[in-house]
Order: sequence, then structure tokens, then C-alpha cells
Amino acid sequence: MYTVAVVLAGGSGSRMGTQIKKQYLDLGGHPLIWYSLKAFQESDVDEIVLVGAADDLDEVRATYAPAFDKISKVVPGGRERYHSVYAGLCAIDVCDCVLIHDGARPFVSAEIVDRCLKTLEKENACVAAMPSKDTVKIVDDSGYAVSTPDRTHVWNVQTPQCFRFSVVKKAYDALITAEREGTLGDVHVTDDAMVVEMFTDARVRMIEGSYDNIKITTPEDMTVGAAILNKALTLK
Ligand code: C5P
Repeated sequence: MYTVAVVLAGGSGSRMGTQIKKQYLDLGGHPLIWYSLKAFQESDVDEIVLVGAADDLDEVRATYAPAFDKISKVVPGGRERYHSVYAGLCAIDVCDCVLIHDGARPFVSAEIVDRCLKTLEKENACVAAMPSKDTVKIVDDSGYAVSTPDRTHVWNVQTPQCFRFSVVKKAYDALITAEREGTLGDVHVTDDAMVVEMFTDARVRMIEGSYDNIKITTPEDMTVGAAILNKALTLK
């Protein structure tokens, strides 16, 4: 089962409010993105396609490709996350499975990647996720509660989001075609499983991620990230 990890670092990180894009902020002596690349380099994934922002691609290539020999391509991303994912998928020549990962989630572990790869031996699609600790409310446009889903059925999804290549490529081709033809409507594409759910019959299996597998988005997340990193270093 030949597997490619598409690692996303094409965002602007505007919610972080820093001059440096968040994926290159220092955490414990390394840029954030370094941790994801290291995890995939040390996993059973065969190849890494790194998606960077168009304006710093040369620097990203020069910095990370020599450090991680599984990186086969560094390609420019797009305006939205899903455009960046599509750029990554289009850069893949041939493979059986793809693991799509937010470079802003530095605490993906070898165990999570292993669980993904094992699950893909018998499933078309799986997503690292954790049961929601909080009750979730569906709200209307004015901020009033409309309904309360049964919490036992609510999971917070993370990445990696993992798919048979043929399934995810078909779904993304359909998404991009719909966008170009103006038939997508008012859909906010926030993860990859959603695209597969929208455009294929494949069922998406939730697998255990980790409560530490957080996405670094705002400055407070850097504080939490530093604590998670310290814990990991203490346990080593
Ligand atoms: O913005 P957000 O935190 O949701 O981004 C999740 C991941 O997707 C980040 O690793 C970011 O670099 C990446 N991304 C991207 N291209 C975009 C937007 C986000 O590669 N246009």
C-alpha cells in the first residue's frame, strides 16, 4: 500500500497575528511545521508532498527538502485550504492512499499515523478525531440555540484525514469542477472528509487521534503547545 502524506503549510495564519506565518513560528527550537514533517518522515508513509504558500516556496523547499528525504515535492497552495489540498493531490503521480495533514498540528504521532494506515487496509476513508468533551449547540444566524446533538455522537475532527487516493481525488475533482461551474452554492469546505461525504458514497470512519493533537491557530495555542511539548519531552 503506497502512501503519500500531503502536509499543508500554505495558509497565511492571519488569526495568529504575527509577522511570521504561524507554521514557521518557533516552538521548542523548531518551526511548527518541522514536527509534522518529522512524524511523517519517521512513519511508514512512503512519500511527503509539502504544500507551501506561493510567496515563500523556494525558501521552504531549500529548508525542508534536504532535512526530510521523504519529501518528493514542494508545491504552491491556493486561496483556501481546499485549494491547497487539491494542489497537493494533483502533484501525486500514483499511490494507493493519501494522508492529508494540517502542518499547524505539530503533535501528530507515529501511533496516530499507524492507526490511520491500519484502518486504510480495510476502509476507504478515516479521520483522526476525539469524542467531544463539551456539549455542542447548533445555533441560528442570530446566535440562538436551535438544537443540542447527543454528545455521544459528537466528535471533534483532527488530521490526518486519510483516504484511498481514487476516492479522495474523485471527490476533489468534483468539488473543484462544481466551484468552477458555479454550482457549489454556499458551502464552507472545512475538512476533507466533508468533500468525500458530499461527492462519493464512501463512509468515513472515525479513529482515535489524541487530545494533544491540537491545531495551532491563535497565540493562546502556542502556550498550550509549549506545555504539550514539555510533557512529551519529560515522558521521553
Ligand atoms: O487556517 P487553518 O488553521 O484552518 O489551516 C489549516 C492548515 O491548512 C494549516 O496548516 C494551513 O497552513 C493550511 N492551509 C493551506 N492553504 C490555505 C489555508 C490553510 O495550506 N489556503
